[in-house]
Amino acid sequence: MKLEISREALKNNIEVFKSLIKPNVKFAAVVKSNAYGHGILEISKLGLELGADLLAVNSIEEAILLRKNFQKTIIMIMGEIQNIELYSEELNDENFWVVVSRFESVKFLNSLNKNPKVHLKVDTGMGRLGFSKEDFFSNLEKIKKENLVIHGILTHFAQAEDYTEHSFSKKQVDEFLKAISFATNLGYTNLIKHASASASTMLFKEAHFDLVRIGISLYGLWPSIQTKLSLSIRGEKLNKLEPVLSWKTNIVHIQNLPSNTYIGYGSTFKTTSPTKLAVIPVGYFEGYDRRLSNLGYVLIKGERARILGRVCMNMTMIDITQIKNIEIGEEVVLIGKSGNEEILADTLAEMTGTINYQIVTNINSSIQRVVV
Ligand SMILES: *Cc1c(COP(=O)(O)O)cnc(C)c1O
Repeated sequence: MKLEISREALKNNIEVFKSLIKPNVKFAAVVKSNAYGHGILEISKLGLELGADLLAVNSIEEAILLRKNFQKTIIMIMGEIQNIELYSEELNDENFWVVVSRFESVKFLNSLNKNPKVHLKVDTGMGRLGFSKEDFFSNLEKIKKENLVIHGILTHFAQAEDYTEHSFSKKQVDEFLKAISFATNLGYTNLIKHASASASTMLFKEAHFDLVRIGISLYGLWPSIQTKLSLSIRGEKLNKLEPVLSWKTNIVHIQNLPSNTYIGYGSTFKTTSPTKLAVIPVGYFEGYDRRLSNLGYVLIKGERARILGRVCMNMTMIDITQIKNIEIGEEVVLIGKSGNEEILADTLAEMTGTINYQIVTNINSSIQRVVV
């Protein structure tokens, strides 16, 4: 079993975003959560080769792993670091950009002699990390009074991908602009300003500021159907994103079964005609969702083969009765193209009641990623 990572597709997606942003706007490749399941080291290496200016992660652990592999690369840590004071050694690095939501963290980072960069987060409507409006003003005054250095200011959109109506996001931009002018008036005039993830980069040119943080669409996936709809309502051309990941496995067992045979745990499926069944070595441990039981399908030689019975922990049974000349070892596509058929992460997301983000991040990190 393997995950194929397409260099060409990644290159295409980076080019799509580079063509949307002005040349002076920096491109952060968001590689948190094992690069959305695509393989953090593989994607980071390729992303940097193909033009990303910096890497963005969630945790200090991810940042430490990347630093071991990329000595000078700028790494932005976007999540909140618990017990940040314990990392005085690891964070003492001028090429770490640390997103900060507390005064104490600003102070701590300023105490490190190699000047890791402080990026202040403003909560303009997400209701998650960041300084809320009033706190931001008072804390920035405190920061100024103590002559502390900050390097960037950022916010995050709450609803950019959820609706085709964007008044909430516009309000967030206004709030962010207010925070920026407050900082400017205090003398913080050279801050790197950033707000946009994939959807907002495609939708709001006015919110690119100095840097965009691209996650899901770096991997060739749309943030949502609403993002597509919004562009098409405006009569804009749809960006040509290409999925980077293909998930493939091989048949490990075949059985010819008569009518009236039960299949799998709970005997939830019963054949109604002679059935040729194949077993693939992928289950919910590997990240293939159990809700695909009796519902999903895979691709073999450009044909669909539906799942019979429940998805097991490490195996799934499929119906290959109608597909000719199949032997043990035959390639099976779980996500990706086969002939004229394609299964997208979105296809699986729709069947399992989630979003494409969760489908790809759920793929077990122990599976080998192969760059093609
Ligand atoms: C994950 C994340 C992103 C990337 O979002 P996508 O929708 O995947 O592009 C950007 N900014 C922050 C703060 C994030 O946590």
